[in-house]
Formats: sequence, C-alpha cells, structure tokens
Amino acid sequence: VDLPIHDAVLGHAARFADTPALVDGTDGTTLSYEQVDRFHRRVAAALAEAGVAKGDVLALHSPNTVFFPIAFYAATRAGASVTTVHPLATAEEFARQLADSAARWIITVSPLLETARRAARSAGGVREILVCDTAPGHRSLIDLLACTAPEPAVAVDPARDVAALPYSSGTTGTPKGVMLTHRQIATNLAQLESAITAGPGDRILAVLPFFHIYGLTALMNAPLRTGATVVVLPRFEVETFLAAIERHRITGLYVAPPIVLTLAKHPLVTTYDLSSLRYVVSAAAPLDARLAAACSERLGVPPIGQAYGMTELSPGTHVVPLDALHTAPPGTVGKLIAGTEMRIVALDDPDHDLGPGEAGEILIRGPQVMKGYLGRPDATAAMIDPDGWLHTGDVGYVDAEGWLFVVDRVKELIKYKGFQVAPAELEALLLAHPGIADAAVVGTRDDDGNEIPHAYVVRRPTAADLTAGEIMMHVAERVAPYKRVRRVTFIDAVPRAASGKILRRRLREHA
Ligand code: ATP
Ligand code: MG
Repeated sequence: VDLPIHDAVLGHAARFADTPALVDGTDGTTLSYEQVDRFHRRVAAALAEAGVAKGDVLALHSPNTVFFPIAFYAATRAGASVTTVHPLATAEEFARQLADSAARWIITVSPLLETARRAARSAGGVREILVCDTAPGHRSLIDLLACTAPEPAVAVDPARDVAALPYSSGTTGTPKGVMLTHRQIATNLAQLESAITAGPGDRILAVLPFFHIYGLTALMNAPLRTGATVVVLPRFEVETFLAAIERHRITGLYVAPPIVLTLAKHPLVTTYDLSSLRYVVSAAAPLDARLAAACSERLGVPPIGQAYGMTELSPGTHVVPLDALHTAPPGTVGKLIAGTEMRIVALDDPDHDLGPGEAGEILIRGPQVMKGYLGRPDATAAMIDPDGWLHTGDVGYVDAEGWLFVVDRVKELIKYKGFQVAPAELEALLLAHPGIADAAVVGTRDDDGNEIPHAYVVRRPTAADLTAGEIMMHVAERVAPYKRVRRVTFIDAVPRAASGKILRRRLREHA
C-alpha cells in the first residue's frame, strides 16, 4: 500500500485490459481499464506541461461522469492534491473553498463553467480552468488526450503528500478541508477490501457523488482497484436508478439512508427486474434496522450491510463483511477493520473507558486518521489527542461480540430534563409510520426555554390529514416518557447534504 493513490488503484489496470471500467449510465459511453490507464497518464502529462506542479491544489468540480476518475488520477499523478467540490455549490461557496485551499487549477464541466469562472474571479489565484467535456474556446480533457509530452516524473511521497483534500459535509458547521495523504487513503482501501470485495464481474452503480469521501472510496477507488465495472449516474432519480440496475445488471449498491427509504417505500421499485443485485451497503448516516429490513426484503437481497466512517478517517473504520450479512445483528454498522484501534469512553470523562453495551464517544486510532485539517491546527488538536486518538463526536456502543452500534452524534443529542434523547431513534420510529414519507428530529426550545424533541415531518400524499397529535401519540406509545416528541412541524422536504445527512441546523434556523 505504499504507493501513490493512482498506482494503488490503477496498478492492475493492465490485467483487466478490455474489461469496462466506467460506463455512463445515461448515454452508455464506456471506458475500458486500458483506456482509463492510458487516458489518465496522457492528461497527467498535459497537466504537468500546463504548469501543474507538485503540491499544487486542483479543484475538481463535477457531477459523477466517466471522466471524473480520469481527472482525479491525472491530477494526483501530476503531483497535485485534489480538492473535490460539490457540483451544486454556489459561486460564493466554491470561492470560499478555492480560497481556503489555495487552489491553483480547476477542472469543471461545461454546464458549470460559469459558476467556476465566477468563483475563480472572486477567490483569485486560479491559473487555469479546464473542462472535462467540451466548451468552445476552452481547453478540455479531450484536447489534453492528444498531448505527446512525456509522463511527468513527479516523486510522490505517499506518507507525506496530500492526495485528496475533501471538505467534510458541513453537517455540524462550516465544512473543513481534510488533508488525506496517499498512504492514508491507500491503506484504508486495503483495510476495507478485506471485508468488502468487489471484483471482475461485479457491476457497481455510482449514484452517490464521487466528490464526497464515501462515493470517492466505495464507488471509485475501491471498485476500480479490483477490476469491477462502475456504472455512473449524475444524481439520484428513482426511475433512472431502477432502470439502470435492470439494464446494467448491477450486482452491488452503495447507498445512504435516504435511498434506502425510497427503495423501501416507492411503488415503482417492484416494477423493475432487480434480480442481479447481490448486496446493498449503506453508510454516512444512521439507518434504522426495520427500514433496512423492509428495503432488503423488497429488493430480494441479503440484509443490508452498513459501514461507518468519516472524512477524517479516509474514511472507513467499520463494515459488515459480505460473508456476515446474514449473521450480523440488525442495526450494527459493522466490526472494526484490521489494523485499527477503537475505544468507547464516557461522554463526561474521556479517560473512562466503557464496556460492552455502554454507550459513549467513539475514539479511533489507526493509519487512516487524517494528517489534519488544512490551515486549522487548533481544530486538528481538538479532534486528535496527543496519543493519536481521533475523537469522532459520535456516540456508540459495542455488543459482546464487538459489533458496533452508532447511536447519534454527541452534538445532536437532545437534553430533555437531564435525559439524553437521540434524534435518530425518534426518526426511525416516525419513518415506521405508514403516513410519514420522511422525518427529522431536532432539539428546540419550548416556551420555558427547555430543550425538547421537535419533529419535522413530511406526510405522504395519501395521508394529508395526519395530525400532529396522532404523530406524537404514535411515538409516545413506543418510547419512555422522556423521549416523547413534544412538537411537530409539517414540511415539504427534509433538508439533506449530498452525502445523505440531515441538515439539522437548517431546521433549527427554520424553528
Ligand atoms: P461536518 O464534520 O462538517 O459537520 P459530517 O460529519 O457530516 O460534517 P462526514 O465526514 O461526511 O461529515 O460524515 C461523517 C459522519 O457521518 C460521522 O461522524 C457519523 O456521524 C456519520 N455516519 C457515518 N456513517 C454512519 C453510519 N453507518 N451510521 C450512523 N452515522 C454514520
Ligand atoms: Mg464530522
């Protein structure tokens, strides 16, 4: 694993030669492993010729396309660190990321070119904007393929050099730039592979965004390293998604809980032939065990396997191995992967280690712990203690066999009269109600200033007359009195990050 990320992933490309590596799920454009390998080397040479130098930051600003991986590996091969940008970011948000990361190069796509131009103007410091597709008067990756310059001879130090600079989802605050070295990412890939194995013949549907660390790892690096075929979709849209599974005979899905919710409830699901599916993995946010079971039964696949991680952990620490899907306890996010240590400590005393069944903060130590937050030594020190333990900010517990259960984030726990209430538990109960399409719970203040569980609910069209009282009753019948939902607000949609997480702070602003 002591290879630069482009070699760690594409080192076996020659062996998979004509196997399709990337397929555009919309128009069918297909790139073989041989092409991905050749193209990313050509583009790397052209980037180096254009002036991309070791240590430069290159912003990759694109929805999922078959060219995204080529741009990514070309940039790292030219010695750059890639900061991936949300394709729906506004020009201001993009400018902030450009300025924060001191990016010198942008690779975007023609529909987003205007946003990229505005962001670059306002941030300053960007030397050139390239596009993946074609735009008149603009250099594109396709032009770069004609480059005849020699491959750049950049000496990458996998242990020190930053390969990727993703920004955390910004669920709890402003997104932070996370410095991940080549070694951290490559090591984590190898660690995860021992539990999740895609390989030649596997066809993975890449609908979660590559720009987020989950998609980057599970949908790009991991499958391309093992000779699988990645079918790429630019966004989740239920009909296109189901049609792509049927048409491309998809074998494995990596999704986030909102997609599980759709698959468990949407009427169209049963009208497609999904018999090629062998497994479904969910990560990035809490997933209720009942919802997971409803989804897997409907799809006719083994129980959904969860994985757990965070941007700062390159990103994975726990997975349910594919051979344990049937035996793992419902609701677990998995077992600790090899070469990684975990502690669970009391929320009020990080020196007090807890035993099985006791919930506390999850601490992680291992080779996948980030190098640090870019330009924020204080935030880094607050996250990683002097002994190398990363404080995840997540609450969890393990059972006697070591299966981890994530309760929620420390910061999201609602303190109701001295008791702690996990929003995720109440959300799971709400989603089990047949009249509820989606729900989110946050702590808000009642008239006396006390924090209370407040549910934001999206009703199903068929349940437009469902009342707040009925919803509160539904929860009250199933939980201890201190966990009751005390206020209900009806909304049209739950705000979520691209990675599938509920943006609870938006709901709080709304309250
Ligand atoms: P920010 O750090 O900017 O507030 P974020 O924490 O949402 O944003 P990510 O790094 O994308 O950014 O997400 C990591 C978090 O996602 C974890 O800390 C955890 O709270 C949550 N998470 C990941 N996997 C799971 C899972 N299987 N179950 C529950 N929560 C999960
Ligand atoms: Mg976080």
